[in-house]
Amino acid sequence: MSLVARVAGVRERLDGIDALLVTDLTNIRWLTGFSGSNGWAVVTPDRVTIFTDGRYGVQAAQQMSAAGFDGEVAVGATGGAMLDELVARTRGLGRLGFEAPHVSYQQHGQFAATVACTLVATSGLVEAGRRIKDDTEIAAIERACAIADQALAEVAPALADGLTEAQVRNRLELRMRELGASGPSYDTIVATGPRNGALPHHRPTDTVIEEGHLVVVDVGALVDGYHSDMTRTFVVGEPSAQQRELYELVLAAQVAGVAAVAPGLVARDLDGVCRGIIADAGYGDWFTHGTGHGVGLLIHEDPFVNKASDVTLQVGDVVTVEPGVYREGFGGIRVEDLVVVTSNGCRVLTASAKDSPCPPFPPTT
Ligand code: ZN
Ligand code: ZN
Repeated sequence: MSLVARVAGVRERLDGIDALLVTDLTNIRWLTGFSGSNGWAVVTPDRVTIFTDGRYGVQAAQQMSAAGFDGEVAVGATGGAMLDELVARTRGLGRLGFEAPHVSYQQHGQFAATVACTLVATSGLVEAGRRIKDDTEIAAIERACAIADQALAEVAPALADGLTEAQVRNRLELRMRELGASGPSYDTIVATGPRNGALPHHRPTDTVIEEGHLVVVDVGALVDGYHSDMTRTFVVGEPSAQQRELYELVLAAQVAGVAAVAPGLVARDLDGVCRGIIADAGYGDWFTHGTGHGVGLLIHEDPFVNKASDVTLQVGDVVTVEPGVYREGFGGIRVEDLVVVTSNGCRVLTASAKDSPCPPFPPTT
C-alpha cells in the first residue's frame, strides 16, 4: 500500500470533521514517512502538511519525497512558531479533529486557545488503517523475526554455560545488531529460575542461570522501524515432572491459539482458546496476562488479544500468541509466536523451534 492510499483511508474516516490534526509520531511516520522526534501533521481532503522544528524541516521533505508522497512542510523555530504556523494553515477548516488518546491536557489547552477551528476529539482514525500491514511492512517484520531466530539459535547453547541473565541479553542484542537489526525491538527479557521467571516482564539481572532452571527468553529485533516479538522457554538440564507437564500445557495452549487464528475471529475468543486449555488443567490463575497484541511500528499496538477485547481479526493483522504460566517458587513458562492473519488462517513469522522439553541447545525441530 502506498502512502497515498494510507492517507486516502484516513480521509474516508473523516466522519463529521473537515481535517485531522495528527500528533502521534508513530501515526505521522506511518502516514508520511517522516520519522523525526517532533512534529504534527494535518490531513485535509486535498493536502497533508507536516509541522516541525528547524532540526527536521529538510528531513521531513526528504522522507516524504523518498516515500513518493507529495506533502507540504511548515517549519517553526520554536514550539510557539510551530503553533503559529498551525494556526495560519488551519484557518477556515471548520471542524478539526484531534487525536484524543495522544494529546495532553496542556497541549489541548494550547490548541484550543489558538487554533481558529472547532476542535473535535477523535480516536483511532489512523490506527484503524495502521493495524492492517501491507507487504512492505510484513517483509520488514519477517526480516526482524528471522534476525531474532538466528540470534537465539546461536546464543541458546550458552544458557548451559553458567552465564547471567544480563550476559545472555547482551549476546542476543549484539548478535541482532550484527545480523542487521537497528537494535532490539524492546528490552530483551531473560528470566531464570523460580523467582525471576515468575515475573512475566522481568528485567535481566546478574542472576546466574543454573541447572534445573526454567529460562524465559523474550527477544525481538527492529528493522526499518518494524518490530518482531518471540518468546521461548528453556530448561537447563533434565526437566522435573512439573516443568515438563507445564511446558507441554503451555505449548498445547499456544499451538491451539495459533491454529485458531483466522479473519473474523473475535480477539477475546482467541484469548479464550489459550486460556481455556490452561484453566481446564487447573492453572488458570497462573496465566496472568493477555494472550497477545498487535505488532508493527510499535511493539504493542492494536489489536490487543485479551479477555475483554471485542475487536475482530482481519487479514493483515500481525499479532502475537503468547500464553504463559508464572508462579513464585516455580518460575515461568511462556511460548510466543508472531503471526500474520491471512485469508485462510495465519502464517507464523517466527521460526524458532518449540521442542518439548526445550533444552538449551540448538532445537531439533
Ligand atoms: Zn514478547
Ligand atoms: Zn509480546
